Amino acid sequence: MEFAERLNRLGKENAFTVLGKVIKLREQGKNIISFCIGEPDFNTPENIKNAAIKAINDNMTHYNPSGGLPEFKRTIANYISKTRGINVGEENVCVASGGKPIIYYTIHALVNPGDEAIYPNPGYPIYESIINFVGGKAVPLPLLESRGFSFNVKTLENIVTDKTKLIIINSPQNPTGGLLSKEDLKAIAKIATERNIYILSDEIYSRILYEGEFNSISSQPDMQDKTIIVDGFSKTYAMTGWRMGFGIANKELTQQITNLENNCESCTVTFNQYAGIEALTGPQDEVDGMVKEFRERRDLIVNLLNDIKGFSCLKPKGAFYVFPNVTQACKNLGFKDAEQLQEYLLYKGDVAVLARTSFGLKNKDENEEYIRLSYATSKENIIEGLARIKRAVENK
Ligand code: PLP
Repeated sequence: MEFAERLNRLGKENAFTVLGKVIKLREQGKNIISFCIGEPDFNTPENIKNAAIKAINDNMTHYNPSGGLPEFKRTIANYISKTRGINVGEENVCVASGGKPIIYYTIHALVNPGDEAIYPNPGYPIYESIINFVGGKAVPLPLLESRGFSFNVKTLENIVTDKTKLIIINSPQNPTGGLLSKEDLKAIAKIATERNIYILSDEIYSRILYEGEFNSISSQPDMQDKTIIVDGFSKTYAMTGWRMGFGIANKELTQQITNLENNCESCTVTFNQYAGIEALTGPQDEVDGMVKEFRERRDLIVNLLNDIKGFSCLKPKGAFYVFPNVTQACKNLGFKDAEQLQEYLLYKGDVAVLARTSFGLKNKDENEEYIRLSYATSKENIIEGLARIKRAVENK
């Protein structure tokens, strides 16, 4: 069968591929501990579930406008205005089936074939995939372990050209857990204003923060109009399967993003949006509880990782991922790279992790090896899983 040529340029999120392998192994009776998928193991809070159930019983089961219910958009606008210190209105909000479609729509709305778009590397793989898909040139911005997985401003200045249309940032970050400082954001904002570049700011982990403060580039002077914020409910409220997120942008861009949604999904699930209103306006103590638990797990997993020969792991400031450097462990085991380590841990250690290359090809001059573990799993799993990794890596 002959498919459209553009499909050759489409990447994918490898976490779902490895998850498929995990499920296969489990079907064969293997007891695999998985650190590969980035989703909270908590259940959605009861008040949020009840709001959706009520909405279904109230027959909120019909179509709603592309871009979202006005009441929901106003709730989101208030939430973003308050948390980012900017002035957002209903006309700046587009609700979608997750943060992921907003990334897809924004890149489609802004990047022409031949335009350049800068994305963080290592990073969430969908950015690079969609830039390539639309025929843009995906330009990696290396994130450096030596800078707590932030970037070098000089490097950013050097890779920006007259063709740069978009810079994508993500803080707190997947896969490293790194947090961009206000200084980093100021440097990006300066470049964006001087060179007239849009910023796609993926803030999906903004509430999952353990140290430092969350800053949005949209609050920098003159940046609100140039920024597209991506946020949603999957991570903060343990609602991955509900598929609900949103984008915040200037009015014209919001209209274009909404029109793309109109052509693709028509609208987001109607009764879900009532659950979204409850999530943002109801009690927040369960979110605080989840973040407290994630913090304890972070401390636990970082200590256990640093106790494995050939591993070294920075303490991430946010999200629920750790990104240990495993260069020495790969050498000790005679492995060429972290992909071999990933396969070895899965088939010999019964533990699923993701190699660095699931988050983009290595940068030029990058010689280190890394893996990502998601610690959105129980402390028991962390203790047992890390004991298995230690045994496998130290050959005991
Ligand atoms: N952005 C980042 C950095 C992510 O890690 C994810 C999910 O893993 C998303 C966006 C998309 O989340 P969702 O589509 O579930 O809102």
